[in-house]
Amino acid sequence: KSVVAVVGRPNVGKSTIFNRLVGERISIVEDTPGVTRDRIYAEAEWLTTNFNIIDTGGIELGDEPLLVQMRAQAQVAIDEADVIIFMVNGRDGITGADEEVAKVLFKSNKPVVLAVNKVDNPEMQETIYEFYSLGFGKPYPISGTHGLGLGDLLDAAVQHFPEQPLEEEDDDTIRFSLIGRPNVGKSSLVNSLLGQERVIVSDIAGTTRDAVDTPFTKDQRDFVIIDTAGMRKRGKVYESTEKYSIMRALKAIERSDVVLSLLDAETGIQEQDKKIAGYAHEAGRAVIIVVNKWDTIKSDEKAMKEFEDDVRSNFRYLDYAPIVYLSAKTKKRTHTLLPKVIEASENHARRVQTNILNEVIMDALAMNPAPSIKGQKLKIYYATQVAVKPPTFVVFVNESELMHFTYARFLENRIRDAFGFEGTPIKIIARKRS
Ligand code: GDP
Repeated sequence: KSVVAVVGRPNVGKSTIFNRLVGERISIVEDTPGVTRDRIYAEAEWLTTNFNIIDTGGIELGDEPLLVQMRAQAQVAIDEADVIIFMVNGRDGITGADEEVAKVLFKSNKPVVLAVNKVDNPEMQETIYEFYSLGFGKPYPISGTHGLGLGDLLDAAVQHFPEQPLEEEDDDTIRFSLIGRPNVGKSSLVNSLLGQERVIVSDIAGTTRDAVDTPFTKDQRDFVIIDTAGMRKRGKVYESTEKYSIMRALKAIERSDVVLSLLDAETGIQEQDKKIAGYAHEAGRAVIIVVNKWDTIKSDEKAMKEFEDDVRSNFRYLDYAPIVYLSAKTKKRTHTLLPKVIEASENHARRVQTNILNEVIMDALAMNPAPSIKGQKLKIYYATQVAVKPPTFVVFVNESELMHFTYARFLENRIRDAFGFEGTPIKIIARKRS
C-alpha cells in the first residue's frame, strides 16, 4: 500500500485533514487490553485506492526546539512516504518555517503536493498564488474545516503513487518481521539469522526508505525477512520516539505472515512492548514472542519460568504465542527460532476438516453446555472454517447474542486442544442461522 505523509509547521491544520481523510475508522474502540489506537498512522481511502496516511504532526520530541522538530518530521515523511502533502496556511503567507521545511523536502526528490489550507471561501483563492514560489508547482487550495478542495488534492497525490507490484500469491515463502522497541536487538537478530553483517544502506536522502526485504533459504524453505531497520541511525531524535517505533512496527506487520515480537531480557517488559505486540495480534498475524539478550540473565529453569509468568500476565491476549529465549549476540538458541516460525506460519494458514471440526464443537457442547442468557439456551447447529491467515470459524447458532465471549473462548480452547494452533490467533464468529 502506498503511504502519504502530511507535513507542515504546527497549526496549519494537519490533524484536521488527517482526521477527515481517515474518517470514521480511527475511532474504533478497542477492547483488547493493552492496546490503544495510535492516531498518527492510519488507513485511508480515496475512490478505489486504499493507502496509509501519516500525520507527522503527531511526532513530538519533548523539549526539542521547533525547528529541530519540524526537520525531524519532514525526515520521517521522506523516509516513510511515497507522496508528501506539504501543508501551509493561506492566511499567513509563506513563513520562514515553511521555507525550512520546503528545503528539506526539496532535497529528498520525493513527490510533493502543496496544499494551502484555510482557504475557506472563493474570495481567498487569490492568496494561493504566492505559494508557487515554494517550488512545488501548483498549490492546491483546501479548507480543512469545511472539507473543501480535498478531492483535487487527493487526485494529485494518488497520481504519484508507484505502481503496485502484484503480490506473488500462494507460494510457500514465509514472510516474517521483527518488531520491538529501539535497542531490543532487532538488527542484531536479523544479522545473526542471515549469518552475515548486512551492508548498511547508504545515507543519501531517499535511498534508504521503506522496508528492506531480504529473501533467504534455509533447510529448503524459503523465507523473507521484512526489516524496517533500513533507515535507522539517521535521525536519532525521532527514532527514539515511541510513535516512530510503532509506526515502523505497523508497516512491517502489515506485510508479514509471522511477526516476531522482541523483548529485552535485561530491561524486562515495558508498556511500549505491550502496545507493539498488541498490534500484531490485532492484525491477525501469527506471533512468536522472542526474549532476546538472554545471555545477560543468570539462566536456569527458574529464571525462564519467572519470565514466562511475566510474559503471560502482561500479554494475556497472546496466550497462543510461543516464547523463545535466545541471545542474538552469542547466538545461543537462535537455531530454535526458524522451526517455530515455520510451525506458526503453517498453523496460520491451516484448514481443518469440517466433519472433525463439528465433532469437536459438538463434544465441547455436550461436555459443557452454554449457560442460558435471559432464560434462553444457545443452540449450535453447525460450524465451518471460512478463512485462513488467521483461521476463522463461523458457528451457526439459534441466536448470536447467546454466544457469550467466555463461551466463544471455551470453544476456541477446545479447537486449539484438538488441532493445535500454536502461534496463530483464531477467530470465532457466531452467526444466526437464517
Ligand atoms: P534494534 O534497535 O532493536 O535494532 O537493536 P540493535 O540490534 O541495534 O541492538 C541494540 C543493542 O543491544 C546493541 O548494542 C547490541 O549489541 C545489543 N544486543 C543485541 N542483542 C543482544 C544480546 O542478545 N545480548 C546482549 N547482551 N546484547 C545484545
